[in-house]
Amino acid sequence: MTVTAIPDLAESGDVVETDAGLRQAGSRCPECRAMASPPVPRCVECAAPTRRVPLADRGTLYAFTTVRVSSSAQTPYTIGYVDLDDGVRVLTGVADPETATVDCRVIVEVAADGSRLARPLTGEDADQ
Ligand SMILES: [Zn+2]
Repeated sequence: MTVTAIPDLAESGDVVETDAGLRQAGSRCPECRAMASPPVPRCVECAAPTRRVPLADRGTLYAFTTVRVSSSAQTPYTIGYVDLDDGVRVLTGVADPETATVDCRVIVEVAADGSRLARPLTGEDADQ
């Protein structure tokens, strides 16, 4: 499976390698359980030191749009916000935008350079 880099998103990538593959890095507060992405050294809610954790790879597409004019990247490409299952909202590329809908379930694929691509889930995969 190929993950296509989306302009301006790769540089924000912070990746954690897990047994299930690459995941985007975030942070979790051990005191109040607040999550953050990108990872932060101190909790934004209570200022306690945080732990670096892999973020969920599934979520719900909150909003998306297709960019058709750009002076710096090949168009068209589609980007969107995904509300990950662990409560963090991330900006990501969107694959198969013709099948994507607001509130559809997606899996977010992460490449080694940190670029992200949300792929709409269908059928039984969408129920997980
Ligand atoms: Zn906290």
